[in-house]
Amino acid sequence: MGTRDGALRQAFHLMKYLSPDEPIDAAGAERELEDVADRVQPGWRELTVAKRFLPNLVSSNAIVTAGTRRPPVGAAGVEGVYLAGDWVGDEGMLAEAAIASARVAADRAASDLARAHTELDAPMARAVS
Ligand SMILES: Cc1cc2nc3c(=O)[nH]c(=O)nc-3n(C[C@H](O)[C@H](O)[C@H](O)COP(=O)(O)OP(=O)(O)OC[C@H]3O[C@@H](n4cnc5c(N)ncnc54)[C@H](O)[C@@H]3O)c2cc1C
Repeated sequence: MGTRDGALRQAFHLMKYLSPDEPIDAAGAERELEDVADRVQPGWRELTVAKRFLPNLVSSNAIVTAGTRRPPVGAAGVEGVYLAGDWVGDEGMLAEAAIASARVAADRAASDLARAHTELDAPMARAVS
């Protein structure tokens, strides 16, 4: 990744999945991940500009099952407000669901804008003719 000062930098991620019932040993997990980094990217410590360790990231979403559905993009019931995310809409799971619902939300917002422009332009067109 290029930066304003012209230096080349890279983002490097490591992660480890835990079972939901497993107690979190943050310091132990960080040590374990850094040991892996030492093996696969020796020298990374000297080159590190910024480091972030997040010991407890929950990966969860709303799963569509036979008896349930996720709320649709228009579930807010407020004109011009659309929902998007991995807990919205019937299509896909996790990132795919987030992208699918975002696409529908963006299409609806674009249609709203186009309609608003048409409605605003109509009186002007009538006034001119
Ligand atoms: C460790 C991990 C591994 C994963 N692996 C996979 C995988 O392999 N495949 C896959 O498909 N999915 C994976 N996922 C799930 C995937 O990342 C999510 O499903 C997806 O990012 C959800 O997108 P989203 O837009 O709904 O929410 P998010 O990506 O969580 O985006 C929500 C955004 O809203 C911001 N925000 C929150 N509150 C506020 C506020 N009050 N004001 C302003 N901003 C706010 C947050 O900072 C965030 O940027 C993984 C998730 C995790 C944590």
